[in-house]
Amino acid sequence: MKKELYQYDLYPLVFPVGVATEFTIQPLGYPLTVFGEGYTVAVYSRYLARGREEECIRRTDIPCTVDEAGRLHFTYTAATECEHHVSLRLNDKPQADLWIYAVEEDLAGRYPLRGDLHTHSCRSDAKQAPAVVCANYRRRGYDFIVLTDHGRYYPSLEAIAAFSEVKTALNILPGEEVHLPGTTVHLVNAGGKYSVNGLVPALQQYSETKGDTDKRRLDATVTPPPIRTMEQYEAEIAAVEEQVKAAGCPANVNSHSYAVCRWAFDRIREAEGLGVWAHFYWADELAPAPDPFIYYMMETHPFDAIEALGGAAKVHENGFQAALYYDEYRHGRVHAVVGSTDSHDYTELNPGSAHCCTLVFAEKNDRKSIVQAVKDRYSVAVDTKQPEFRLVGEFRLQRYATFLLENYFPLHDRQAAMDGEMLCRYVHGDATAEEVDLVSARAEKLLKKYIRTK
Ligand SMILES: [Zn+2]
Ligand SMILES: [Zn+2]
Repeated sequence: MKKELYQYDLYPLVFPVGVATEFTIQPLGYPLTVFGEGYTVAVYSRYLARGREEECIRRTDIPCTVDEAGRLHFTYTAATECEHHVSLRLNDKPQADLWIYAVEEDLAGRYPLRGDLHTHSCRSDAKQAPAVVCANYRRRGYDFIVLTDHGRYYPSLEAIAAFSEVKTALNILPGEEVHLPGTTVHLVNAGGKYSVNGLVPALQQYSETKGDTDKRRLDATVTPPPIRTMEQYEAEIAAVEEQVKAAGCPANVNSHSYAVCRWAFDRIREAEGLGVWAHFYWADELAPAPDPFIYYMMETHPFDAIEALGGAAKVHENGFQAALYYDEYRHGRVHAVVGSTDSHDYTELNPGSAHCCTLVFAEKNDRKSIVQAVKDRYSVAVDTKQPEFRLVGEFRLQRYATFLLENYFPLHDRQAAMDGEMLCRYVHGDATAEEVDLVSARAEKLLKKYIRTK
């Protein structure tokens, strides 16, 4: 965390363009505990508006007031979406460099949320129980997670149920990694209201829940489609494959495997989930796909989003995935992106576990808003394995996300660590629901303090 964040608490950090916004600077006792006479701020904005050729740095000097508690107040209106440098000055001598970010109207209605749309528990091949995975994620600064066990949807319901009696700030979405007969390609159903694995009788979701309907849907208001017989499933795939061939699927692309993927993504959409093509360029025994298959998938994009970064241990593969994302951009195809840990061991003991995430800009931290925001391409994939973190996504969002990772998330993460610690204790019977709620309620306050919407 940078020094200035220990010295001063400046809020809001994010504010709308064109709106006169009042800012507060609270000294944190390093060295000041209160402000006195002679303090002003100069705000420098770097105009890089689209469609403008000039680039200029403009300085605005702003008088400040000091309230009874010794906090400084000033009002500023930004003309353009960008980062603004707040130079805190005493008798016009610089004292500290602080930063705020102005956003255009579409982003001003959205909160930045850190999440993971692809994770595993011990219900498939990972190490921790579903509830423990969730609590650990919150401790490490995540606002939402989707538990996506291999071939199984019901563990995500177990995770949701574990916290149904508390008002945790961590939003747990239903989900699953989809593994269907006829393909080795890995897909993720993030947030779907029912299981796609559960539509096919050959899979763990089916055998381990013994046909219990409640374990293949989010809640009692959801009616999933009937389970196919294997003959019905194979007939549906054959029909899709025929269409795919008629549409000109190249001879060097496995049309059957492709047809299964297309069928699965359509089913995920019907379930109101986000269909993610997982770790699509991992060059190992997991989900290997030859280049022609990858290019054809990209060209026809039956998915909703690609996992541009998929687990921090796969440095080179993630690099190729990022390169492919930008190659696609060159071809005029702008895919929605996510960054996932795909973690199978989610404690600090596993150093590679918490380095990827998706930053989503969503109106609310709920299932529907997150799925929609990613589909609408309000997301950035993030890898923080190195201190010089790597982002994949649109330039405008990368710029904003970088500001947030440096100025907002360090503060957010301290709150999340407290929440997560309480969730861990709650899971083990060492904290009451009231104690969890008390700590979690602060998360919403923190979000609204730093991120000013319209
Ligand atoms: Zn996988
Ligand atoms: Zn996985």
